[in-house]
Amino acid sequence: MAREVNQLLDRIFAQRHQNRGSDLEAVETAWRTTLHRAGAAALSALFQYQPPASDQRQLPCPCGHLAQYQGLRSKPVLTVLGLVRVSRPYYLCARCHQGQFPADVELDIADTEVSPGVRRMLAVVGAAAPFDHGRQRMQVLAGLEVTTKAVERTAEAIGGDIAAGERHQIQRAIQLDLPVVIGEPVRILYVQMDGTGVPVVKKETLGRQGKTDGQPAHTREAKLGCVFTQTRWDPKKGYAIRDPNSTTYVGAIETVEEFGKRIYLEAWNRGYSRAETKVVMGDGAEWIWNLAAQHFPGAIQIVDLYHARQHLWDLVRKLYPNDAASQKAWMRVHQKRLLDKGKIEKLVAALRTIRATNPEVTEKIRTETEYFARNGERMRYPKFRRQHLFVGSGVIEAGCKTVIGSRLKQSGMFWTVQGANDILALRCCLLNGRFEDYCETRRTA
Ligand SMILES: [Zn+2]
Repeated sequence: MAREVNQLLDRIFAQRHQNRGSDLEAVETAWRTTLHRAGAAALSALFQYQPPASDQRQLPCPCGHLAQYQGLRSKPVLTVLGLVRVSRPYYLCARCHQGQFPADVELDIADTEVSPGVRRMLAVVGAAAPFDHGRQRMQVLAGLEVTTKAVERTAEAIGGDIAAGERHQIQRAIQLDLPVVIGEPVRILYVQMDGTGVPVVKKETLGRQGKTDGQPAHTREAKLGCVFTQTRWDPKKGYAIRDPNSTTYVGAIETVEEFGKRIYLEAWNRGYSRAETKVVMGDGAEWIWNLAAQHFPGAIQIVDLYHARQHLWDLVRKLYPNDAASQKAWMRVHQKRLLDKGKIEKLVAALRTIRATNPEVTEKIRTETEYFARNGERMRYPKFRRQHLFVGSGVIEAGCKTVIGSRLKQSGMFWTVQGANDILALRCCLLNGRFEDYCETRRTA
């Protein structure tokens, strides 16, 4: 170590004496490389295990037999200081032929050639950007050469481990009564849900119908949920104000039933039982209200106002195609005076009086009328505003973009469901500020 450092100092001073000036970036990078190399040398020395004493050369094997010491075996391990070699005792069971490296378990490098510190870095960069960007970031930020595949494999493995831990918690939550989380009462707690398509490889959509008739789907729906709280509102503007940093996300490509348990547990952990006012919000999608009824009975249900308005726009464009003036006039009545005012019965009655000759338009009128009739109680916007509640589900829609879209829906990306779910679990964990806890729990497990 001293030799490495001395050589570098010699080079730096020689350069200065020759008056070639100091290139700080070159010097600092050289220092990092040198100190990494010195550290790697120290780690390598530390990782040369001794053969076990002659009376400790066997270990219990999971099969019930004993594994015998076979000698020292070495493997390369990439650490935050660079590549080191670990040489450690190897045991083999003569009956079931399973090998064991107890030192690998102790060092948390079983079945991997990447140290826990580097794995954490790979998870962070792999969650944030395409895997090849992760590889480049590792080089610039950590001075480590890794393959794109290593970023992918490690990030997905850690995401998979997080997802498995969550499945375990969900399983426990439905088997036992959840303990009431003690804490301050929560003024208003929101649960918002939405779905967004994630592009997947062909085998994940075999036998599934796409949105266009007869076309196979190229995407699978990821369901995303978020929980956040509100204690204040802006009396001047009449806006609800979300508590800063109070939003947590959960999401996966999974069935409604599975997702229901996931969002329920998240809401519970965030203090659902202590909330004075509980609100579930979504667009008009049927599955959201089915989940709300099953897991959040008694919560106020609100259909996102902007989605509701969009339904009116979709209809009016069919009623008055290419006639902006008529569309606007119609919206002034149906949106501003009826929908925005929460007069949904009057809106439905008005829609029912519309007659069209075109069967496609007739069908559109029918489906939109049903949409408003079905969601009337969820569209009492003036009442919700008087209660100082949000009327838009902008938080979950932004979440669909930041949590899912920006990472999983870039051009040229095609995911397996497993890979997408692993990265989604990892991203939610990081965004929720729980990644350090996860690493800590793993270390002490
Ligand atoms: Zn065995």
